[in-house]
Amino acid sequence: MANLEEELQTRRTFAIISHPDAGKTTITEQMLLLGGVVREAGTVKGRKGNFAKSDWMEIEQKRGISVTSSVLQFDFDDKRINILDTPGHEDFSEDTYRTLMAVDSVIMVIDSAKGIEPQTKKLFEIVKERHIPIFTFFNKLDRDGREAFDLVDELESTLGIQAYPMNWPIGSGQILAGLYDLYHKQVEVYRPASNAERFLPLNEAGNDLAQANALQENPLWDEVRDEIELLQDAGNEFDEDAILRGELTPVFFGSALTNFGVETFLSTYMDYAPAPAPKKTATGTLVEPTDENFAGFVFKIQANMDPNHRDRIAFVRIVSGEFTRGMDVTLQRLNKKLRLSNVTQFMADSRENVQNAYPGDIIGVYDTGNFQIGDTIYAGKKAVEFEELPTFTPEMFMRVRAKNVLKQKSFHKGVTQLVQEGTIQMYTAWDSGEYILGAVGQLQFEVFQFRMENEYNTEVTLEPMGAKTARWVNAEQLDPRMASSRNLLVRDRNDAPVFLFENAFAERWFSDKYPDVELETKL
Ligand code: GDP
Repeated sequence: MANLEEELQTRRTFAIISHPDAGKTTITEQMLLLGGVVREAGTVKGRKGNFAKSDWMEIEQKRGISVTSSVLQFDFDDKRINILDTPGHEDFSEDTYRTLMAVDSVIMVIDSAKGIEPQTKKLFEIVKERHIPIFTFFNKLDRDGREAFDLVDELESTLGIQAYPMNWPIGSGQILAGLYDLYHKQVEVYRPASNAERFLPLNEAGNDLAQANALQENPLWDEVRDEIELLQDAGNEFDEDAILRGELTPVFFGSALTNFGVETFLSTYMDYAPAPAPKKTATGTLVEPTDENFAGFVFKIQANMDPNHRDRIAFVRIVSGEFTRGMDVTLQRLNKKLRLSNVTQFMADSRENVQNAYPGDIIGVYDTGNFQIGDTIYAGKKAVEFEELPTFTPEMFMRVRAKNVLKQKSFHKGVTQLVQEGTIQMYTAWDSGEYILGAVGQLQFEVFQFRMENEYNTEVTLEPMGAKTARWVNAEQLDPRMASSRNLLVRDRNDAPVFLFENAFAERWFSDKYPDVELETKL
């Protein structure tokens, strides 16, 4: 199947992680412009405010399933790009984390005035744990930002990753003059007088312009050349293998809003971002993307909030083989045969139904309730089961009850199904057996509450428990008397004991008192 090999080699599937307002939407728009998908910026998704928490349900109801911004597929250069959305703000949820399980590399966008912010750090931890290659873009260079050295330093020390600057800013804000592009041995000029002056080649040694140019009169020029010298003497070596292992991040500077440095970034990224990777099975073997039998896994399920359309859409990342519309597959968990006919794909610039998809691509399968997050589907006779998706440590907890005590049966059914589907995590208090929901984002509670009412006809009461730190303990080391007023003991859905600590202080107190008990986190 030469076709399969060719197709998958062109795929680049990635996510953009950032803290809200760093410029993720703006850079995505510039990419779509570069890919010729849109003609003007501002068309990708609703602007700020649309996704405010209170509006969310209403928006979902009005527009039905919102798949358009979850995955964007388009062509750039000779590559087919799949960008997977990792929602932040109030839309932050376990889906945001799980999406990172379906990409081959990640772009991290950082506001160069602010540096590393909390949400970036959280998402980065997951990326690092999975050894996903990561590329850094310091954005908003058209504004006064922090010193480039300072930013790179913070990146390395806060995130514990090595950095390799691919280009270096010549000034920022009002005095931004350009980018010293070490990698392409040229200077990219900010607001050049003519298109011909956009890129100025460096000399053979890479330390001065090849031709005389007014830029050399700029007082910043000598300063930047000194900095480059320092980088070359004391900085990291460029090491492609280290990039692919996620140990070294190539660093770029630019300004998404003024479309400066974005094209250079994207085309260099395309040179190094990996093609679709093999994936581990539950038994530890690898499924290669070139394996001609189709296989994929579900990393996200989006319920339709419209009561007239109770279907859901399961997002499947293709791992191997070729998807063709109408093909028969097996849903591994239930050993159930399904025909994949009602499937959407996500080409950003065409409405037509794409008939084929390849490793790296995402397909959206309309589902009436068969799928759970983490499910494997495969074609052919040989059964495939991919390794389980990780569980994430929840940070928010709510006690949950049915408002009406006569609704216990549907309450239990709803909770069980929604937990199984991966909507939210559930714990039970060790003593009282009361239900406690855990999530990484507020949105998960809202979706849970909404679906309980609309799909299971059960109103629920959610009672916030304040911030908690969840730590798993080994059942053999557990003594239920370790529970106190500051650490609630609960069971997770596999009956494993978990302590919910009020704060880091309470956790330290516990560790001092029981030094032999190991406290574990999930991802
Ligand atoms: P997101 O929350 O990460 O998706 O951020 P947005 O792309 O929506 O950007 C947040 C704000 O920063 C918007 O007002 C953008 O216009 C602005 N912005 C994004 N990139 C740049 C940039 O390069 N320079 C400047 N000055 N503003 C930018």
